[in-house]
Amino acid sequence: MTDLTQWLPRAVAAIDRWQAQYDDPGTHPSLVIDDRSLESAFTSLTERLTDNYPFFSPRYVGQMLKPPHPAAVLGYVTAMLINPNNHALDGGPGTAAMEKEVVARLATMFGLPQHLGHLTSSGTIANLEALFVARESHPGKAIAYSADAHYTHARMCHVLGVEGITITSDDRGRMDLDALDEVLSTGRVGTVVATLGTTGLGALDPLPGIVALARAHGARIHVDAAYGGFFALIADDSPDGVASAPFGATALADSIVVDPHKHGLQPYGCGAVLFADPEVGRFYVHDSPYTYFTSDELHLGEISLECSRAGAAAAALWLTLEVLPLTPDGLGAALRPGRRGALTWHDLHRQSDAFNAYQPPELDIVTYLPARTSMSAVDAASQAVFRQSGEGEPGEQIHVATYGVSPQQLKARGHDLREDASAARILRSVVMKPESEAAIPGIHARLESIARTIA
Ligand SMILES: *Cc1c(COP(=O)(O)O)cnc(C)c1O
Repeated sequence: MTDLTQWLPRAVAAIDRWQAQYDDPGTHPSLVIDDRSLESAFTSLTERLTDNYPFFSPRYVGQMLKPPHPAAVLGYVTAMLINPNNHALDGGPGTAAMEKEVVARLATMFGLPQHLGHLTSSGTIANLEALFVARESHPGKAIAYSADAHYTHARMCHVLGVEGITITSDDRGRMDLDALDEVLSTGRVGTVVATLGTTGLGALDPLPGIVALARAHGARIHVDAAYGGFFALIADDSPDGVASAPFGATALADSIVVDPHKHGLQPYGCGAVLFADPEVGRFYVHDSPYTYFTSDELHLGEISLECSRAGAAAAALWLTLEVLPLTPDGLGAALRPGRRGALTWHDLHRQSDAFNAYQPPELDIVTYLPARTSMSAVDAASQAVFRQSGEGEPGEQIHVATYGVSPQQLKARGHDLREDASAARILRSVVMKPESEAAIPGIHARLESIARTIA
């Protein structure tokens, strides 16, 4: 692994050298701190951080969490020592240029022939921007998204004062095309949100079919690929790749969101929004007497809802993509192991007498339920496996997550359970670290043994 104890001092030295050309202002007396008080506060900080789950561990297969790549940390810290603000070129010309470069690479990954876009502080804000443009370009029209779409779409429709319409999901958590067709036929919908990689199940909405239906009804298409976007790099229908068809249609979208802070190896917060038509920039027009001086070139703040944003986030992503480019052999090679791990685990569930597979994974998210005959027993056993696997010595712990499902959702997938409760938690694991692949058989065996001891 890239050794940050070697590289971080080089970051400090490089920025020191640059600053030394100007001044040596020293430290103002008001900012001088006592090393001993820093020492004790720092000790307290590092202690207080130890209550985190071990996101870095191959045996942490719970939520969508993992540390950034060391290259991202190095890029971030180096730029942060200067602290550029990518709102305006005055705030950070170098990092603004890096942002435009990485955004162009993301657009190429999705096959967009031209684009306008920028980084954001999160996927939620990136989606907000896309829905804002949806509202401005189709005023008075509704926005439709599937029942499995991220919950923030409904929230942001509320924020924007736009009607949000929920489209039924099919028996794999994907948008149901017949249900979409019916809603589109009302003529109320201006934009359809297709999710590539739902947050819960990693399901891929059938984008080619959605595009065809939306176009036939004059609706726009927004693709929320916050989680799944980088899987475009391995969308080759190969044994350890993912389905090509949904990703093959991203070039036809009006807007796309992807979260580099999920599968792009970045620290929070780094989302991105891309628009196929650069003309949408007109919806962002604003006047500010205190920015945009040094250049007539596009300032990123002129096309974004947010004002200040970390130039360091752009530097981090830029440095990462220089060494792990957006190619099948670059970042793609870091995605395949998790995909393989998810498929292996799914097979283990299918052969298991302790668990049943909930549904096959389309990306790297695995869902499974303890073999029980009633909703309440599945719920209790899932909760017990979740709790017990996370206990014990640090070197033994396994961290998974739970996921709430309804009797109808279970039945649609062939799980016939006694309906003695209106909902049940099942188990859900995100295999998003390449290191987890090798750990899957051991994780599975341990979870099986726990599941068997639960009444
Ligand atoms: C994570 C996620 C979001 C929200 O992104 P944040 O970066 O957490 O704000 C939106 N949509 C999907 C599909 C996601 O997976």
